[in-house]
Amino acid sequence: MSQVQQLYQLQQIDTEMREKKQRLGEVLRAQKETAELLAAKERVVTAVTDLQSWQTQRQDLDLELQALKNKAKSAEQRLYSGNVKNPKELTDLQSAIEAMGRQRAALEDEILEAMIMIEDTEVEKAAADKSLQTIQAKWEQSQASLKQEQSDLALRLHELTGKRKERLGTISAASLTEYDAISRKGGGVAVVKIKNNICTGCRLNVSALKEKKAREGEMVYCASCGRILAV
Ligand SMILES: [Zn+2]
Repeated sequence: MSQVQQLYQLQQIDTEMREKKQRLGEVLRAQKETAELLAAKERVVTAVTDLQSWQTQRQDLDLELQALKNKAKSAEQRLYSGNVKNPKELTDLQSAIEAMGRQRAALEDEILEAMIMIEDTEVEKAAADKSLQTIQAKWEQSQASLKQEQSDLALRLHELTGKRKERLGTISAASLTEYDAISRKGGGVAVVKIKNNICTGCRLNVSALKEKKAREGEMVYCASCGRILAV
């Protein structure tokens, strides 16, 4: 195999390694929670928080109502006990009982509202849970395929590293230095094929003489982009 052919094979390895490394970067970056998943989790947290808050509120209102009922009951017992004789005290007691009645009605309204809110937030929580389950399942599936791709890429890069080392054993130090220099200038591509008299690196014409020399295994360079020409 001519030196040009060896360099061309090195180029193929390097090109594939570059592509695989780039894809590996993408695959690693894609392995995080999506905005959709984060939003679905947030929705569940909000629903749970709302539900707990309404449940607590309802419990507090129930306790308040119970205390008020007890207070009203003892006021009524006192009123009808016959022990209170003072008319002013009787009137005050009566107004206090009436006030407690209004308070009680207001509390019962609040309890009703809390019950409705509990029902609504329970419905919302169920919907949020269901949506999260669907999104999470879809995400986990995509993660599994990304994990598989990551492991395939890592394996292939390992293979390519071995192949590259092997290939370097057949290339002279001078050729390698040249290859590296052209590669740096040529965006990572030092060796290109001639196809239909055209340099595949820059799409410009290659002379018939150069193509002939390249075919004979001689090191020739594209006049336009300076890359090494292979056939
Ligand atoms: Zn060229």
